[in-house]
Amino acid sequence: MAFELPALPYAKDALEPHVSANTLDFHYGKHHNTYVVNLNNLLGDAAGSSQADLEQVIRDSAGDPGKAGVFNNAAQVWNHTFFWHSMSPSGGGAPSGDLAAKIDAAFGSLDGFKEQFKTAAVTQFGSGWAWLVSDGGALKVVKTANAETPLTQGVTPLLTCDVWEHAYYLDYQNRRPDFVQAFLDNLVNWDFAAANLAG
Ligand code: MN
Repeated sequence: MAFELPALPYAKDALEPHVSANTLDFHYGKHHNTYVVNLNNLLGDAAGSSQADLEQVIRDSAGDPGKAGVFNNAAQVWNHTFFWHSMSPSGGGAPSGDLAAKIDAAFGSLDGFKEQFKTAAVTQFGSGWAWLVSDGGALKVVKTANAETPLTQGVTPLLTCDVWEHAYYLDYQNRRPDFVQAFLDNLVNWDFAAANLAG
């Protein structure tokens, strides 16, 4: 068995002009794929194939310095798949229902959420991720470094934005805040977040 690169949930040019097909060619076709190849090479015959297998590898290697290579590649495979689904060609707008109520409760308003999420994304020094998570039903914004993922931190990830330079440099160069703003205003997939919240 071996892990496979999951299909993108939309065409490579579907997120233009906010994320270009050129960026997805590299980010999905090269970066994400390389994490899959590296993980299979590291695991050999121990590689699984399902999402549950991947999550087990992440949990088993988290915090173990001897398994840092496995963790980094496995978590990056998972994080990227989650990121692709966190965006939609028809994204942006506002959440509804229970998710909207929980965002208002946690952040005061949708604008309050956007401000906290953007701050987390912009202040993540170096490479990492910004996340919306549910901590026992209460929503929080968190950031993680490098391959770190809230999956191993006892919370439920709802959304993420990749803030490694490779996520935005071809389209935005050094302007990470502009990329994050475009993500929040035009790409964020509230249906995905609501489905994750509902479990
Ligand atoms: Mn990335």
